Order: sequence, then C-alpha cells, then structure tokens
Amino acid sequence: MLKYPSIFEPLDLGFTVLKNRFLMGSMHTNLEEIPGGFERAAVYFAERARNEVALIVTGGIAPNLAGCVSAHAAKLSEPHEVERHQLVTQAVHQEGGKICMQILHTGRYGYHPHLVAPSPIQAPINFFKPKELTEEDIEATISDFVNCALLAQTAGYDGVEIMGSEGYLINQFIAPRTNHRLDGWGVTLEGRTRLAIEIVRRTRAAVGANFIIIFRISLLDLVEGGSTWEEVIYLAKRIEEAGASLLNSGIGWHEARIPTIATSVPRGAFAWVTKKLKQEVQIPVIAVNRINTPEKAEEIIRDGFADMVSLARPFLADSAFVKKAKLGQPEAINTCIACNQACLDHTFQLKISSCLVNPRACHETELNYLPTSDPKSVAVIGGGPAGMACAATLAERGHQVTLFEQQDRLGGQFNLAKMVPGKEEYSETIRYFAHQIESLGVKLRLGEAATIQALQEGGFHSVVLAAGITSRKPDIEGIDHPMVCSYDELLSGAVAPGERVAIIGAGGIGFDVATFLVEQDADHQSIAEFLDKWGIDIHYQEAGGLKAPISQAPTREVFLLKRSKGKHGATLGKTTGWIHKLNLQNKQVKMLSDVSYDRIDDAGFHVSIHGEQTTLAVDQIVVCAGQEPHTELAATLEAIWGENFHIIGGAKDAKDLDAKRAISEACHLAASL
Ligand code: NAP
Ligand code: SF4
Repeated sequence: MLKYPSIFEPLDLGFTVLKNRFLMGSMHTNLEEIPGGFERAAVYFAERARNEVALIVTGGIAPNLAGCVSAHAAKLSEPHEVERHQLVTQAVHQEGGKICMQILHTGRYGYHPHLVAPSPIQAPINFFKPKELTEEDIEATISDFVNCALLAQTAGYDGVEIMGSEGYLINQFIAPRTNHRLDGWGVTLEGRTRLAIEIVRRTRAAVGANFIIIFRISLLDLVEGGSTWEEVIYLAKRIEEAGASLLNSGIGWHEARIPTIATSVPRGAFAWVTKKLKQEVQIPVIAVNRINTPEKAEEIIRDGFADMVSLARPFLADSAFVKKAKLGQPEAINTCIACNQACLDHTFQLKISSCLVNPRACHETELNYLPTSDPKSVAVIGGGPAGMACAATLAERGHQVTLFEQQDRLGGQFNLAKMVPGKEEYSETIRYFAHQIESLGVKLRLGEAATIQALQEGGFHSVVLAAGITSRKPDIEGIDHPMVCSYDELLSGAVAPGERVAIIGAGGIGFDVATFLVEQDADHQSIAEFLDKWGIDIHYQEAGGLKAPISQAPTREVFLLKRSKGKHGATLGKTTGWIHKLNLQNKQVKMLSDVSYDRIDDAGFHVSIHGEQTTLAVDQIVVCAGQEPHTELAATLEAIWGENFHIIGGAKDAKDLDAKRAISEACHLAASL
C-alpha cells in the first residue's frame, strides 16, 4: 500500500522546497485597489506567512487592462507598477514565507465595458458583452501574460499562478460553451487548449527553471458545454509538459448554478476529482474548496487525494490556522463557517473583504488586540456572538471579564442557526469562542440573568450589554392561536413542525426556517448525497461533470410569505442567496409576495394576495418577522455606569441585525477599552 505524507511534511519542487502542504489560495480582497492597500496587503499576508503557511497566492492581478476585474482593478503590465508589489514580497519573505502572484484575465467576466473573449458571447452573470479577440490580439494577450510574469519575478515573487479555471478567459477558450472560433484557437480540442498551453510554455521559457508556475485547471466546469474528463486530462498533461510546477484545482464556473463553496457544501466535497487528476500527472496537485479543518486537510493528504491543500477563507478566519494545527490545538482555531458574508459578498460589492468571525482579517493595520496597561473588571451581559467575541477579546487583552448568560449554554442566535440543514458549521464559532472564554479565564455565569444588584455587587468598572434580541410578534388578529409559533420555538425544538406551514416574513430567517422545514429529516448530508442533489457526476460521463439532479420529495408543504412586492431573496447574501432560493424552489416551497395578513383561526391563515382574499389551510404558522432589541436594563445601566456602559450587537440595533456587525462591534469595543 502506498504511504502518503502528512500535511506537515515538506514538499520538494526540485528547485525549491515548501515547508508544509498548506497553500493559501487566491482570494480577491480589494486591498490592492485602495490607496495604501499594498501596505495593508503586506501586513495581511506577512501575518499568514509568520504563522507557517508554506505558500501564499495573491488575489488576481490582471496582465492588461482588458483582463481587469473592474475598471480600476489591479494590473501588472508596466515596470512602474512593480514597486508596490515589492512591499508584499519583502514582508512575506521576512517572515520566512513564499508567495506567488495570481495572473487573472477575466475575459467576459470583467465588470467594465472593454471586455474581450474568444467569441462575442455575453456571460449570463454580466451586463457587458465581450469583443471577439483577433489572432493578433491573442498573440498580444499571451505576451501580456509573459510580461506580467516577468514583472512579478522582478517584484520578488516566488512564482505565479496562471488562472485557467472558474470560467475566466483561459477557461473560456478551453470550453466549447464559449469558444465558437473557426480559426486555430478553436474548433478542435487542440485549438481550444492552445492559449492555455502557449501561455504556460512561453512563461516558463521567459522566467527560467527556478520559478514556481501554478496552473489552476478547471477540473469540473459544472456548466453545459464544458470540458469532458478526457479533455481535462489532455490539457493537464500538456500543461505539465509546458513547464508548470503545480496543478491547482478549479471547481465550477462562476455562472454555474451549483454551490461549490457555500456552507451547505460538505467539507472536502471535491477532493475526489483532484484525486482523479493526481493519477494522471507527475507534478504535485492541489485540492480545494471547503477544506476548513486540520483534520480534513490531513485526511486529504494522508489518503493520497492531493499533494497540497488550498485554503483561502479559513486563513481569513484564523491567520494562525497552520501553527495551531501543528501544535496540536485544533480546538483553538477560529473556523471558517463558509458563510461568505464578510469575504466574498464584500468582494463582489467592491468593498474591502474581512471575515464574519474575525473582523481583523484584511484590517490588520487598524484593529489589534494589544495587551492592556490598565486591566479593568468588565461585565459582559449576553453570551451570543457579540457577547462571546467581546468577552474573549477583552480577556485576551488582559482585562478581568465576567460573562453573564441567562441560558444554560453559550451561543445565542447561533444555537438556532446551527439547527438549519447546511448551517451546521455555525456550531464551530460557538466551540471556538467557548474555548477562548475558558482558556483565557473569563468567569462564566451561565444560567444567570444579570441583575443591577449582581452587577453592583460585582464592583465592575465597565458593563457591556450584548443581550441580543427577541423575535417580533406582529399585530395580526388571532396571532395567539395555538398553531402560531416563533422561529426560535421551532428551531430550538420547543415546538414540533406542522405538515402544512406558512412562514410570516421572507428575510434570512424566513429562508432558514423554510429550509429547516423542507429538509428537516435529512441528517448532515454525505458528499455522495450532495453530488446527487446538485447533479454532479462522480463518474464524469458527460461534459462539465453534470448529470440530472436527484431531488427528494419535500417533506411538507410550505408557504413563504412577505408583505412587500417583488422577488423573494433580494435581502440575502449576494454569493449565497441564489443557492437558498434555488434549493427552496426545488423543494416546491410556494413563495408569495404582496400578501396582507388578515386573520388566523381554526380554518387556517386568511390572507389577501395582490388584494384577493384567500385562506391557506395550514396547521402551523411560524413568525419570522424580524426582531426587537433586548434593552430592558440599558437605561439603568447607563445611569449608573455612564461612559463605562456600552451596548453592542442586536441589543444596540435589532434592525438588519447580523452576526457580522455584532462580532465586529464587539471586537472594536474590546480593542478600545
Ligand atoms: P429581516 O431580514 O429583516 O426579515 C424580516 C422580514 O419580516 C422582513 O423581510 C419583512 O418582510 C417581515 N416583517 C417585518 N416586520 C413585520 C411585521 N410587523 N409583520 C409582518 N412581517 C414583518 O430579518 P430576519 O429574517 O429576522 O433576519 C435577521 C438578520 O439576520 C438579517 O439582517 C439577515 O441579514 C440575517 N440573516 C441572514 C441570513 C442569510 O443571508 N442567509 C440568514 C439568517 C439571518 P415584509 O415587510 O416584506 O413582510
Ligand atoms: Fe469564512 Fe464567513 Fe469568514 Fe468568509 S466571512 S472567511 S466565509 S467565516
């Protein structure tokens, strides 16, 4: 039996050695686009290098203007653009790390009007239509890639990653879906893959032998008109011959309507396809997507699925992931819960990325938890995400912290979120903060509602109110009918689900409750079940790796209601909302808008839809109509503690409450006390 290495063993590339098998995958943070952004990026990457990530890949940098992500996005095509990259490479090298620059030409995916592509076919996810590249343009584009790699070498990078997947330009040439050319850059497999191979071949010739070239190859396009497995292997072998040092895995085009990195995707769900690739090539291969624990990373390497693992978001959530894993302290890792709310959702809104569970990510120059020179006694009221993060961060800085939580466990609203099928990862955030709270010596008073008397007797210097929210009870005739319950009663298990259920309110929690109802009987799904559900073929019999999805009948009939007009899901996250919506549509959830709630009685829910009265003969109504803040103590606390009283999270503002804001407020407050 073959023996595979551990994740912590070095990887010898011949001309250079990587100290372990962890690669920090490319992730666009928008830092490169703002004034002073390269200085910030240098600190951000250096912190990951110091914590033993073997190889870092930057966010995508365009080789020319046409290839830019957006109008003012970063490119590297002129010598004067080199200097700012040196800030990054020097900072990483000083920490003993290695870093490659990703060269990304977006092709028809850029957000600007000067797009180019193999054929003038507009992407379904873009407003702009691309111009077809001429043969001269193609030659110039290859030269631009080579020039970009040479400039990266001058800037001190250890190598480049050539982005050939995710539906970007090179991938657009490879796939028949987007390459309708009739010249030598299309028609046949040889023609369609020529651009990819020429870029790698000419780049290797220009940069010499001792420079890392990673090629990110699309192993599964997950769109119609994508590559077959035989075509993927043909390309992989040619790329190896052309001089690539490593093959990274690309999974799914951005326009694919199949989730590939969302929290509902099981951990390591795509490592199997990297394993298929590993059997076909000699150079090391890298597994990607939803690898967020040391255990999963180790399993992938030890079981011979890949030679390296690429993690991107998990290094936002915890810059010391590798170091803690190596020290045998996985419980101390702040785990990425794959929510996308502060990273990719920000990226696509052209905001600086961060992390919901770690607001320091990409803000390392402005948010630091320095030891305090003036330790204070602080009471934190509420053990939800805001209270946990605040207590742990205050204790990390050296304050003496007491945390009051009236429930018998920590977690607050995350205890409900983790009950939603596909959101099980939220339990990891509770586990992480609970570990911090214990190991940093926070005095935990579980099952105790903080009273003014207890706080005064405690002699606290400061008090932080993080008591969260209570669910809103709308003013509807019959709202006290026994068939009505709140979302917390349902998700906590206090109330059993009905058979025909109406949900009042179609915000994030209404969607979560609908998911809970239609998928409630499913345990956390296996990888095989996930692949079947979304139509991904592990046997790869069709182009793109697609097959007919196998959908299971919904477990109950569900109506998702809202008063406002317009489509459902508009308030959900940009990169994940479509998944929640598609999932519920597949489960035949009836999404009704422009609904007014008239009356609830034994006959059901009497409503008017677009002004027409009807009765939904349901046996349960779940209220998901937003929240009100828990502020009973606020006025008294403020009167007693004055400027040493603070209020954060949902207790401060229940409207548009989300954990991202709650944790960010908590950490900023804790850093400032
Ligand atoms: P929400 O997003 O504000 O949605 C509450 C919904 O209830 C509104 O869309 C509103 O819809 C309805 N509503 C408000 N007042 C009402 C009233 N008096 N009577 C009847 N209906 C009323 O709040 P949420 O769903 O509770 O979510 C809370 C926060 O958690 C959100 O900020 C969200 O970002 C976050 N979250 C996000 C996700 C996700 O993105 N997957 C999941 C969970 C939670 P109409 O006015 O149209 O009726
Ligand atoms: Fe992971 Fe969410 Fe943080 Fe992004 S915001 S890195 S998905 S935990």
